[in-house]
Amino acid sequence: MKISYRAQNCTAEGAFEVLAKANALEREKGIKVIHLEIGEPDFDTPKGIKEACKRAIDNGKTHYNQAAGIPEFREAAAEHLSKTRKMDISSDNVLISAGGKLLIFAACMVFLEEGDEAIYPDPGYPPYRSAIGIAGGKAIPMSIREENDFRIDIDNLKSLITPKTRLIILNSPHNPTGSVINKEDLMKIAEVVKGSNAIVFSDEIYSQLIYNNEPHISIASIDGMKDRTVIMDGMSKTFAMTGWRLAYSYVPKEYFVSMQKIISNTVSCTTTFVQYAGIEALRGNNPEVMEMYNEFKERRDLIVKLVNEIPGVHTKTPNGAFYIFANVSEILHKYNINSKSLADIILYDAGVACLGGSAFGQTGEGYLRFSYANSKENITEAMRRIKEVFNKSYSI
Ligand code: PMP
Repeated sequence: MKISYRAQNCTAEGAFEVLAKANALEREKGIKVIHLEIGEPDFDTPKGIKEACKRAIDNGKTHYNQAAGIPEFREAAAEHLSKTRKMDISSDNVLISAGGKLLIFAACMVFLEEGDEAIYPDPGYPPYRSAIGIAGGKAIPMSIREENDFRIDIDNLKSLITPKTRLIILNSPHNPTGSVINKEDLMKIAEVVKGSNAIVFSDEIYSQLIYNNEPHISIASIDGMKDRTVIMDGMSKTFAMTGWRLAYSYVPKEYFVSMQKIISNTVSCTTTFVQYAGIEALRGNNPEVMEMYNEFKERRDLIVKLVNEIPGVHTKTPNGAFYIFANVSEILHKYNINSKSLADIILYDAGVACLGGSAFGQTGEGYLRFSYANSKENITEAMRRIKEVFNKSYSI
Protein backbone atom coordinates (compact mmCIF):
# COMPACT_ATOMS: atom_id res chain seq x y z
CA MET A 1 0.00 0.00 0.00
CA LYS A 2 1.31 3.44 -0.91
CA ILE A 3 2.03 5.75 2.02
CA SER A 4 0.57 9.24 1.62
CA TYR A 5 2.97 12.04 0.73
CA ARG A 6 1.82 13.83 3.89
CA ALA A 7 3.07 11.00 6.09
CA GLN A 8 6.24 10.60 4.04
CA ASN A 9 7.11 14.29 4.40
CA CYS A 10 6.63 14.23 8.10
CA THR A 11 9.94 13.79 9.94
CA ALA A 12 10.55 12.19 13.31
CA GLU A 13 11.67 14.64 15.99
CA GLY A 14 15.50 14.56 16.27
CA ALA A 15 15.48 14.61 20.07
CA PHE A 16 13.51 11.36 20.23
CA GLU A 17 15.79 9.69 17.65
CA VAL A 18 18.91 10.59 19.63
CA LEU A 19 17.23 9.48 22.85
CA ALA A 20 16.60 6.05 21.29
CA LYS A 21 20.24 5.81 20.13
CA ALA A 22 21.52 6.84 23.56
CA ASN A 23 19.25 4.32 25.29
CA ALA A 24 20.52 1.54 22.98
CA LEU A 25 24.11 2.51 23.83
CA GLU A 26 23.32 2.34 27.52
CA ARG A 27 21.68 -1.07 27.17
CA GLU A 28 24.22 -2.69 24.85
CA LYS A 29 27.50 -1.24 26.10
CA GLY A 30 26.57 -0.41 29.69
CA ILE A 31 27.73 3.21 29.19
CA LYS A 32 26.12 5.86 31.38
CA VAL A 33 25.03 8.50 28.91
CA ILE A 34 24.41 12.06 30.13
CA HIS A 35 21.21 13.27 28.51
CA LEU A 36 21.34 16.83 27.22
CA GLU A 37 19.22 16.13 24.13
CA ILE A 38 15.68 16.16 25.37
CA GLY A 39 13.69 19.28 26.21
CA GLU A 40 12.16 18.16 29.45
CA PRO A 41 12.71 19.30 33.03
CA ASP A 42 14.46 16.67 35.16
CA PHE A 43 12.37 17.73 38.19
CA ASP A 44 9.35 15.93 39.52
CA THR A 45 5.96 17.62 39.11
CA PRO A 46 5.29 19.73 42.25
CA LYS A 47 3.58 17.78 45.02
CA GLY A 48 0.52 20.06 45.33
CA ILE A 49 -0.25 19.57 41.64
CA LYS A 50 -0.06 15.78 41.93
CA GLU A 51 -2.31 15.89 45.01
CA ALA A 52 -4.91 17.94 43.12
CA CYS A 53 -4.97 15.31 40.39
CA LYS A 54 -5.39 12.46 42.90
CA ARG A 55 -8.27 14.31 44.58
CA ALA A 56 -9.95 14.82 41.20
CA ILE A 57 -9.73 11.09 40.46
CA ASP A 58 -11.14 10.26 43.90
CA ASN A 59 -13.95 12.74 43.29
CA GLY A 60 -14.94 10.91 40.14
CA LYS A 61 -13.58 13.39 37.57
CA THR A 62 -12.90 10.49 35.26
CA HIS A 63 -15.35 11.03 32.41
CA TYR A 64 -15.46 13.01 29.19
CA ASN A 65 -15.64 16.77 29.49
CA GLN A 66 -16.28 19.54 26.94
CA ALA A 67 -13.95 19.66 23.91
CA ALA A 68 -12.92 23.19 24.90
CA GLY A 69 -12.00 22.07 28.44
CA ILE A 70 -13.63 22.23 31.88
CA PRO A 71 -14.92 25.74 32.71
CA GLU A 72 -12.82 26.06 35.89
CA PHE A 73 -9.54 25.40 34.10
CA ARG A 74 -10.49 27.65 31.19
CA GLU A 75 -11.21 30.35 33.77
CA ALA A 76 -7.85 29.81 35.53
CA ALA A 77 -6.01 29.89 32.19
CA ALA A 78 -7.85 33.07 31.14
CA GLU A 79 -6.83 34.74 34.43
CA HIS A 80 -3.21 33.60 33.97
CA LEU A 81 -3.07 34.71 30.34
CA SER A 82 -4.63 38.10 31.17
CA LYS A 83 -2.14 38.71 33.96
CA THR A 84 1.01 37.53 32.19
CA ARG A 85 0.17 39.12 28.81
CA LYS A 86 -1.26 42.32 30.28
CA MET A 87 -4.42 42.05 28.22
CA ASP A 88 -8.00 41.13 28.84
CA ILE A 89 -8.65 37.52 27.88
CA SER A 90 -12.03 35.93 28.45
CA SER A 91 -12.41 32.24 29.28
CA ASP A 92 -14.71 32.03 26.22
CA ASN A 93 -11.54 32.36 24.11
CA VAL A 94 -9.54 29.76 26.02
CA LEU A 95 -9.19 26.38 24.35
CA ILE A 96 -7.62 23.54 26.34
CA SER A 97 -5.57 20.86 24.61
CA ALA A 98 -3.74 17.61 25.28
CA GLY A 99 -0.34 19.31 24.93
CA GLY A 100 0.88 22.25 22.92
CA LYS A 101 1.81 20.12 19.95
CA LEU A 102 -1.83 19.34 19.23
CA LEU A 103 -2.58 23.06 19.08
CA ILE A 104 0.13 23.51 16.43
CA PHE A 105 -1.60 20.80 14.37
CA ALA A 106 -5.04 22.27 15.00
CA ALA A 107 -3.91 25.72 13.82
CA CYS A 108 -2.35 24.29 10.65
CA MET A 109 -5.53 22.32 9.93
CA VAL A 110 -7.74 25.36 10.48
CA PHE A 111 -5.73 28.03 8.65
CA LEU A 112 -4.10 26.22 5.73
CA GLU A 113 -5.65 25.10 2.48
CA GLU A 114 -3.67 22.93 0.06
CA GLY A 115 -0.73 25.02 -1.20
CA ASP A 116 -1.14 27.90 1.29
CA GLU A 117 2.13 29.14 2.72
CA ALA A 118 3.14 29.10 6.36
CA ILE A 119 6.30 30.82 7.62
CA TYR A 120 8.13 29.17 10.52
CA PRO A 121 11.43 29.78 12.31
CA ASP A 122 14.54 27.93 11.09
CA PRO A 123 16.15 26.74 13.28
CA GLY A 124 12.90 25.92 15.04
CA TYR A 125 10.84 23.31 16.83
CA PRO A 126 10.62 20.46 14.24
CA PRO A 127 6.86 19.75 14.47
CA TYR A 128 6.08 23.16 12.90
CA ARG A 129 7.35 22.00 9.54
CA SER A 130 5.69 18.59 9.87
CA ALA A 131 2.34 20.03 10.89
CA ILE A 132 2.33 22.52 8.01
CA GLY A 133 3.07 19.66 5.59
CA ILE A 134 0.45 17.33 7.05
CA ALA A 135 -2.14 20.07 6.64
CA GLY A 136 -1.16 20.33 2.96
CA GLY A 137 0.56 23.71 3.35
CA LYS A 138 3.86 24.86 1.98
CA ALA A 139 6.45 25.34 4.72
CA ILE A 140 8.52 28.52 4.28
CA PRO A 141 11.55 28.64 6.60
CA MET A 142 12.48 31.99 8.15
CA SER A 143 16.17 32.05 9.08
CA ILE A 144 17.11 32.96 12.63
CA ARG A 145 20.81 33.81 12.62
CA GLU A 146 23.46 34.28 15.26
CA GLU A 147 24.85 37.37 13.45
CA ASN A 148 21.51 38.95 14.33
CA ASP A 149 21.59 37.66 17.95
CA PHE A 150 19.11 34.96 16.93
CA ARG A 151 16.47 37.63 16.39
CA ILE A 152 13.99 37.67 13.51
CA ASP A 153 15.29 39.71 10.56
CA ILE A 154 12.28 41.90 9.81
CA ASP A 155 13.28 42.60 6.19
CA ASN A 156 13.69 38.89 5.61
CA LEU A 157 10.25 38.23 7.09
CA LYS A 158 8.77 40.89 4.81
CA SER A 159 10.40 39.31 1.78
CA LEU A 160 8.92 35.88 2.61
CA ILE A 161 5.34 37.09 2.73
CA THR A 162 3.20 36.54 -0.36
CA PRO A 163 -0.57 36.75 -0.95
CA LYS A 164 -0.63 33.01 -0.16
CA THR A 165 0.87 33.42 3.34
CA ARG A 166 -1.84 32.36 5.79
CA LEU A 167 0.14 31.52 8.90
CA ILE A 168 3.25 32.90 10.60
CA ILE A 169 4.61 30.85 13.48
CA LEU A 170 6.56 32.73 16.14
CA ASN A 171 8.25 31.17 19.15
CA SER A 172 9.52 33.27 22.03
CA PRO A 173 11.44 32.28 24.13
CA HIS A 174 12.85 30.28 21.28
CA ASN A 175 13.70 26.61 21.02
CA PRO A 176 16.57 25.91 20.15
CA THR A 177 18.44 29.23 20.60
CA GLY A 178 16.90 30.55 23.84
CA SER A 179 16.39 34.00 22.28
CA VAL A 180 13.49 36.21 23.35
CA ILE A 181 11.73 38.58 20.94
CA ASN A 182 11.82 42.09 22.43
CA LYS A 183 8.96 44.58 22.29
CA GLU A 184 10.51 46.71 19.56
CA ASP A 185 10.86 43.69 17.26
CA LEU A 186 7.35 42.49 18.14
CA MET A 187 5.98 45.86 17.08
CA LYS A 188 7.83 45.71 13.79
CA ILE A 189 6.67 42.13 13.18
CA ALA A 190 3.10 43.19 13.98
CA GLU A 191 3.28 45.95 11.36
CA VAL A 192 4.43 43.42 8.75
CA VAL A 193 1.68 40.95 9.73
CA LYS A 194 -1.00 43.62 9.57
CA GLY A 195 -0.07 44.24 5.95
CA SER A 196 -0.54 40.55 5.11
CA ASN A 197 -3.33 37.95 4.97
CA ALA A 198 -1.76 35.94 7.77
CA ILE A 199 -2.67 34.85 11.28
CA VAL A 200 0.10 34.52 13.87
CA PHE A 201 0.48 31.33 15.86
CA SER A 202 2.53 32.44 18.84
CA ASP A 203 4.19 29.53 20.64
CA GLU A 204 4.81 30.89 24.13
CA ILE A 205 5.40 27.58 25.92
CA TYR A 206 8.59 28.97 27.55
CA SER A 207 6.91 32.25 28.59
CA GLN A 208 7.68 31.72 32.29
CA LEU A 209 11.33 30.84 31.64
CA ILE A 210 12.90 34.23 30.90
CA TYR A 211 15.89 35.02 33.07
CA ASN A 212 17.02 38.63 32.79
CA ASN A 213 14.13 40.25 34.67
CA GLU A 214 12.43 41.00 31.37
CA PRO A 215 8.67 40.49 31.27
CA HIS A 216 7.25 38.10 28.72
CA ILE A 217 5.48 40.02 25.96
CA SER A 218 3.00 38.43 23.59
CA ILE A 219 2.51 39.77 20.09
CA ALA A 220 -1.22 39.42 20.79
CA SER A 221 -0.94 42.39 23.16
CA ILE A 222 0.35 44.72 20.43
CA ASP A 223 -2.26 47.07 18.98
CA GLY A 224 -4.39 45.44 16.30
CA MET A 225 -3.01 41.92 16.88
CA LYS A 226 -5.51 40.44 19.34
CA ASP A 227 -7.89 39.30 16.61
CA ARG A 228 -5.20 37.78 14.45
CA THR A 229 -3.07 35.88 16.97
CA VAL A 230 -3.47 32.45 18.52
CA ILE A 231 -1.42 32.16 21.72
CA MET A 232 -0.21 28.73 22.79
CA ASP A 233 1.12 28.06 26.28
CA GLY A 234 1.16 24.95 28.43
CA MET A 235 2.18 23.14 31.55
CA SER A 236 5.03 20.95 30.24
CA LYS A 237 8.00 23.23 30.86
CA THR A 238 7.18 25.65 33.71
CA PHE A 239 5.57 23.02 35.92
CA ALA A 240 7.62 19.96 34.90
CA MET A 241 4.47 18.31 33.52
CA THR A 242 5.60 16.95 30.14
CA GLY A 243 3.90 13.59 30.65
CA TRP A 244 0.57 15.07 31.69
CA ARG A 245 -0.15 16.42 28.20
CA LEU A 246 -1.83 19.66 29.16
CA ALA A 247 -1.78 22.99 27.35
CA TYR A 248 -4.03 25.99 26.83
CA SER A 249 -4.48 28.63 24.19
CA TYR A 250 -6.09 31.93 23.47
CA VAL A 251 -8.07 31.74 20.22
CA PRO A 252 -9.86 34.75 18.67
CA LYS A 253 -13.65 34.32 18.56
CA GLU A 254 -13.78 33.99 14.76
CA TYR A 255 -11.63 30.85 14.80
CA PHE A 256 -12.59 29.29 18.12
CA VAL A 257 -15.23 26.80 16.97
CA SER A 258 -13.02 25.56 14.12
CA MET A 259 -10.05 24.99 16.41
CA GLN A 260 -12.34 23.28 18.91
CA LYS A 261 -13.64 20.97 16.18
CA ILE A 262 -10.10 19.69 15.56
CA ILE A 263 -9.77 18.87 19.26
CA SER A 264 -13.16 17.17 19.40
CA ASN A 265 -12.47 15.11 16.26
CA THR A 266 -9.04 13.94 17.43
CA VAL A 267 -8.82 13.47 21.21
CA SER A 268 -12.51 14.32 21.95
CA CYS A 269 -11.42 16.31 24.98
CA THR A 270 -8.40 16.78 27.23
CA THR A 271 -8.12 14.33 30.15
CA THR A 272 -10.56 15.56 32.77
CA PHE A 273 -8.70 14.96 36.05
CA VAL A 274 -5.48 16.35 34.56
CA GLN A 275 -7.19 19.71 34.13
CA TYR A 276 -7.81 19.87 37.89
CA ALA A 277 -4.06 19.52 38.35
CA GLY A 278 -3.72 22.39 35.88
CA ILE A 279 -5.94 24.63 38.04
CA GLU A 280 -3.68 23.98 41.03
CA ALA A 281 -0.59 24.71 38.90
CA LEU A 282 -1.90 28.08 37.70
CA ARG A 283 -3.65 29.22 40.87
CA GLY A 284 -1.92 27.39 43.72
CA ASN A 285 1.20 28.34 45.57
CA ASN A 286 3.77 25.66 44.82
CA PRO A 287 7.26 26.73 45.97
CA GLU A 288 8.92 24.12 43.73
CA VAL A 289 8.02 26.21 40.66
CA MET A 290 10.24 29.12 41.75
CA GLU A 291 12.95 26.70 42.89
CA MET A 292 13.03 25.10 39.43
CA TYR A 293 13.20 28.51 37.78
CA ASN A 294 16.13 29.60 39.97
CA GLU A 295 17.91 26.33 39.35
CA PHE A 296 17.52 26.70 35.56
CA LYS A 297 19.04 30.16 35.76
CA GLU A 298 22.09 28.85 37.66
CA ARG A 299 22.49 25.95 35.25
CA ARG A 300 22.33 28.30 32.30
CA ASP A 301 25.18 30.38 33.70
CA LEU A 302 27.18 27.24 34.45
CA ILE A 303 26.76 25.62 31.03
CA VAL A 304 27.54 28.88 29.17
CA LYS A 305 30.77 29.24 31.15
CA LEU A 306 31.83 25.61 30.64
CA VAL A 307 30.95 25.52 26.93
CA ASN A 308 33.00 28.65 26.28
CA GLU A 309 35.99 26.97 27.91
CA ILE A 310 36.01 24.26 25.20
CA PRO A 311 38.29 25.31 22.32
CA GLY A 312 36.31 25.71 19.09
CA VAL A 313 32.92 26.02 20.82
CA HIS A 314 31.23 29.27 21.79
CA THR A 315 27.88 30.65 22.83
CA LYS A 316 26.41 33.88 24.15
CA THR A 317 24.14 33.77 27.19
CA PRO A 318 20.59 33.04 26.03
CA ASN A 319 17.77 34.84 27.78
CA GLY A 320 15.08 32.17 27.93
CA ALA A 321 13.96 28.51 27.70
CA PHE A 322 16.51 25.86 28.78
CA TYR A 323 18.76 25.40 25.77
CA ILE A 324 22.01 26.71 24.47
CA PHE A 325 22.76 26.67 20.78
CA ALA A 326 26.53 26.43 20.68
CA ASN A 327 28.51 27.45 17.61
CA VAL A 328 30.88 24.64 16.57
CA SER A 329 31.48 25.75 12.97
CA GLU A 330 35.25 26.03 13.42
CA ILE A 331 35.52 22.36 14.37
CA LEU A 332 33.13 21.28 11.60
CA HIS A 333 35.16 23.11 8.95
CA LYS A 334 38.53 21.91 10.17
CA TYR A 335 37.48 18.26 10.33
CA ASN A 336 35.05 18.41 7.41
CA ILE A 337 32.08 16.96 9.27
CA ASN A 338 28.54 18.19 9.88
CA SER A 339 26.74 18.94 13.13
CA LYS A 340 24.89 15.62 13.12
CA SER A 341 28.15 13.63 12.87
CA LEU A 342 29.70 15.75 15.62
CA ALA A 343 26.69 15.00 17.84
CA ASP A 344 27.22 11.28 17.09
CA ILE A 345 30.92 11.54 17.97
CA ILE A 346 29.99 13.23 21.26
CA LEU A 347 27.48 10.47 21.96
CA TYR A 348 29.75 7.53 21.15
CA ASP A 349 33.10 8.92 22.36
CA ALA A 350 32.04 11.09 25.29
CA GLY A 351 28.77 9.43 26.30
CA VAL A 352 26.88 12.73 26.10
CA ALA A 353 23.66 13.03 24.12
CA CYS A 354 23.01 16.35 22.38
CA LEU A 355 21.49 17.40 19.05
CA GLY A 356 23.11 18.53 15.82
CA GLY A 357 21.71 21.94 14.88
CA SER A 358 20.41 20.67 11.53
CA ALA A 359 17.75 18.72 13.47
CA PHE A 360 16.07 22.15 13.74
CA GLY A 361 16.35 23.10 10.07
CA GLN A 362 19.06 24.00 7.57
CA THR A 363 20.01 27.27 9.23
CA GLY A 364 20.82 25.27 12.37
CA GLU A 365 23.80 23.62 10.67
CA GLY A 366 27.04 24.66 12.40
CA TYR A 367 25.58 24.35 15.91
CA LEU A 368 24.87 21.87 18.67
CA ARG A 369 21.89 22.17 20.97
CA PHE A 370 22.42 21.31 24.61
CA SER A 371 19.45 21.21 26.96
CA TYR A 372 20.36 22.30 30.48
CA ALA A 373 17.35 20.60 31.99
CA ASN A 374 19.83 18.36 33.81
CA SER A 375 21.72 18.62 37.12
CA LYS A 376 24.78 20.84 37.58
CA GLU A 377 26.85 17.72 38.33
CA ASN A 378 25.79 16.12 35.06
CA ILE A 379 26.33 19.33 33.09
CA THR A 380 29.83 19.70 34.57
CA GLU A 381 30.73 16.08 33.85
CA ALA A 382 29.29 16.27 30.31
CA MET A 383 31.35 19.33 29.44
CA ARG A 384 34.47 17.75 30.98
CA ARG A 385 34.00 14.65 28.80
CA ILE A 386 33.41 16.68 25.63
CA LYS A 387 36.44 18.84 26.33
CA GLU A 388 38.57 15.73 26.79
CA VAL A 389 37.40 14.16 23.50
CA PHE A 390 37.88 17.42 21.58
CA ASN A 391 41.37 17.98 23.06
CA LYS A 392 42.37 14.51 21.97
CA SER A 393 40.80 14.24 18.54
CA TYR A 394 39.17 17.53 17.46
CA SER A 395 41.52 20.21 18.67
CA ILE A 396 41.48 23.68 17.16
N1 PMP B 1 6.70 24.22 21.45
C1 PMP B 1 8.02 24.20 21.70
C2 PMP B 1 8.86 25.31 21.19
C3 PMP B 1 8.58 23.13 22.41
O1 PMP B 1 9.90 23.12 22.63
C4 PMP B 1 7.73 22.09 22.86
C5 PMP B 1 8.26 20.90 23.64
N2 PMP B 1 9.53 20.49 23.35
C6 PMP B 1 6.38 22.17 22.57
C7 PMP B 1 5.89 23.24 21.86
C8 PMP B 1 5.39 21.06 22.91
O2 PMP B 1 5.02 21.04 24.20
P1 PMP B 1 3.90 20.04 24.73
O3 PMP B 1 4.59 19.12 25.67
O4 PMP B 1 2.92 20.93 25.41
O5 PMP B 1 3.29 19.33 23.57
